Amino acid sequence: MQPQIILLKEGTEASQGRSQIISNINACQAIVDCVRTTLGPRGMDKLMVEAQGKATISNDGATIMKLLDVVHPAAKTLVDIAKSQDAEVGDGTTSVVLLAGEFLKQMKPFIEEGVHSQIIIRSVRKATQLAVQFINEIAVKPKKDDEVELRQLLEKCAATAMGSKLINQQKDFFSKMVVDAVMMLDELLPLNMIGIKKVPGGALEDTLLVAGVAFKKTFSYAGFEMQPKQYTDPKIALLNIELELKAERDNAEVRLESVEEYQKVVDAEWTILYDKLEKLHLSGAKAVLSKLPIGDVATQYFADRDMFCAGRVPEEDLKRTMKACGGSILTTVADLSDSVLGTCEHFEERQIGGDRFNIFTGCPQAKTCTIIIRGGAEQFMEETERSLHDAIMIVRRAKKNDAVVAGGGAIEMELSKHLRDISRTIAGKEQMLISAIARALEVIPRQLCDNAGFDSTNILNKLRQKHAQGNRWMGVDILNEDVADNMEKCVWEPSLVKINALSAASEATCLILSVDETIKNPKSGEGPAPQGRPGARRPF
Ligand code: ADP
Ligand code: MG
Repeated sequence: MQPQIILLKEGTEASQGRSQIISNINACQAIVDCVRTTLGPRGMDKLMVEAQGKATISNDGATIMKLLDVVHPAAKTLVDIAKSQDAEVGDGTTSVVLLAGEFLKQMKPFIEEGVHSQIIIRSVRKATQLAVQFINEIAVKPKKDDEVELRQLLEKCAATAMGSKLINQQKDFFSKMVVDAVMMLDELLPLNMIGIKKVPGGALEDTLLVAGVAFKKTFSYAGFEMQPKQYTDPKIALLNIELELKAERDNAEVRLESVEEYQKVVDAEWTILYDKLEKLHLSGAKAVLSKLPIGDVATQYFADRDMFCAGRVPEEDLKRTMKACGGSILTTVADLSDSVLGTCEHFEERQIGGDRFNIFTGCPQAKTCTIIIRGGAEQFMEETERSLHDAIMIVRRAKKNDAVVAGGGAIEMELSKHLRDISRTIAGKEQMLISAIARALEVIPRQLCDNAGFDSTNILNKLRQKHAQGNRWMGVDILNEDVADNMEKCVWEPSLVKINALSAASEATCLILSVDETIKNPKSGEGPAPQGRPGARRPF
């Protein structure tokens, strides 16, 4: 009798072969179906509730994918590409997931018929490469030195990015603001130099852009009312020092014999505090910001000397102030020279909604700005923030690399036509595969139509015909249920968004197609054959 060979632990699940690839593809399809309906200006939003009951409303592919908490190992790839698209270019996160899903869907019949994955992978790579080349060829590059034209380009791109979001009614207002914000940054366009704050109340149009640093008035003690609220050219001290009389901690023990000795302890503390305060006053600083609390005594001291102070400033705000106004964050006041103090042209404290804001403008060092979002519901403002983030990323990208293509499915249709033309010149299996990829690209215009309630077959037929006649930028016209030249209609997107989305989708497709075996170890402590939770679908 042959001895049985035991290789893996009991309870290990292994599945392999063609059926494994197919089941991975099916899992990805399920994920794609979750985000499908959010694409485009007429896309729907998703309301997601986390375990703690926190509700999020979003239209952003990456946000939805992050919150989905996917357990399927292959389907997680799609979550990853959405995240990477978000980090890399900021927009196009739904498109990337949709594209990857459609590539896989189109490749599924080939796998079922027994075409080897490697051949498919090679064709997918080739098609992607051809598509990216073609985008670079046909992308339109406006003249960069023309300020007005560049600005227009950036505004159009921002408006397209926001056109599909909750705030699309106000996109003209916001696209100007976003472009202004990005224009304020310096050459490197660091994203963290744009602060975004949310103040409930008011209308969306009350959102304002501050050319400088602004943050909410922090916790303050009695006495702050007496402080002046405006300075020009103040020196600013940024501290990481507590300016407060220390409360007696319950774990500290001081044994005293008499009242006089206690008085000495108290006096010593006052001396230490007054010493610090005096040094700050003598340094000429007009505004004192500290990460740690600034107490009653100190607040009064500063108020008496016509100085402004704010304690418990959040670290990121303090850092941004430091980067903008110069100076350093100090942990001692021993050596307060001008070189460690920051400065700015104007400081004021202003009431915005129910909050008071400390606003520093005219900062000499870094170029920075703050957007203060107003609006009704918390979730609404959060989604506004995410949408602004998308738009800001797009504007940054477009400013660095100013080639644009037309959106609304126009570029996808043109790529599709290009690939179909090329595939006809290729013999063999590759022909079928590349034309399948060409078909897959049509998913974007089709979904845009479906989400808007249009007859997608009809519109796609029109688009195919127009593109065959050489109308390169024909895409879906969302307003009139028709096709239109989206380059003229100013639905512009940076070509980089499309290139990145295509490459990421194709990478994910290749990755999933190249996995033909999954081995899952049983969790330690679980029974020998983990069949999953009762009622739950098994992960494979
Ligand atoms: P993503 O997360 O991929 O950016 P969106 O929901 O933002 O998804 O949808 C983007 C798609 O909507 C792009 O294909 C873009 O071309 C298209 N789109 C945006 N604005 C318009 C418009 N005004 N008309 C037609 N299509 C548009
Ligand atoms: Mg978008």
